[in-house]
Amino acid sequence: MPTCRLAVIAQYLHSKLNGALRWALFLSVASSATLYAHTQTAEHKQEQAAAEQLRFVTTNAEFTLLHEMGHLLIHELKLPVLGREEDAADQLGFIGLFLIYDRQQTPDFPMRLLDVADYWRLEWQHTKDPDEMIHAWDSHALDEQRFYNIACLAYGSDPENLEWIIEMTGLPEERAFYCQDEYEQAKYAALWFREHFKRSPEQPIKHHIRVIYDPPPYHLDGGGDLLEKVKASGELEAVAERASEFFALPRNLTLRVTSCGAPDSWYNISSGELTLCYERIAHFKKLARKLPRLNPALLDPQAQ
Ligand SMILES: [Zn+2]
Repeated sequence: MPTCRLAVIAQYLHSKLNGALRWALFLSVASSATLYAHTQTAEHKQEQAAAEQLRFVTTNAEFTLLHEMGHLLIHELKLPVLGREEDAADQLGFIGLFLIYDRQQTPDFPMRLLDVADYWRLEWQHTKDPDEMIHAWDSHALDEQRFYNIACLAYGSDPENLEWIIEMTGLPEERAFYCQDEYEQAKYAALWFREHFKRSPEQPIKHHIRVIYDPPPYHLDGGGDLLEKVKASGELEAVAERASEFFALPRNLTLRVTSCGAPDSWYNISSGELTLCYERIAHFKKLARKLPRLNPALLDPQAQ
């Protein structure tokens, strides 16, 4: 109920009624107003949670695409890689987010960076089947490490304004101290390769990345809707075209959205095909419901 309306009713009661009756009626109106305010707050919280979950799904789908684009560029352009390729692809994917978003025009950009870190935190805390486990010998870093790596890059991208990321992620200060250097190093590497591997103006655009959408699996709840939304956003085509125009790709490549039977994504070096699985986006949707920010109890991994 709007405040002004409540004030008019209170004034009316004051002038017309007296004693106990006036108070009884006033309290009844006031408690209705409180109930209305609670309902409003609950509705607002639900809307906010839904918006946070949507942003989480979108940003992690983008990060997945950019991580796989990192693999694609490493192999197609023969980029030099020091360290593990999976770590390099994560860094390229992370810096890629800064390239597809205008930070000034996207006020929630830092929250998007936190969404990517939170995805790895949820993976780390999510109970997995034995065949889904990431082992110490794997070519990927452990989920827990990827969470801290991304949290560190996110904080390091603007330490003056993003100190709250340390608190939200529990990033220890021993690591946080070096995060700005880590971010600058990753940014320098990504911008260096962009500059050294870009297509020269004299080189014609000979090859493209073609985007193909296979039908979503029939068992995927809301699969048709998901396909329409991804297509309508035009984001995959935009990233594919931008890469095709910016770099001189050595052959035609494919970006395929398909059903894989598992929440996966990969780049196939032999076929030159980047695969994004519908199941991976569905997996993000499932994990979004457990977002740490929406479940404060999850913030403490020891409490699991
Ligand atoms: Zn990878």
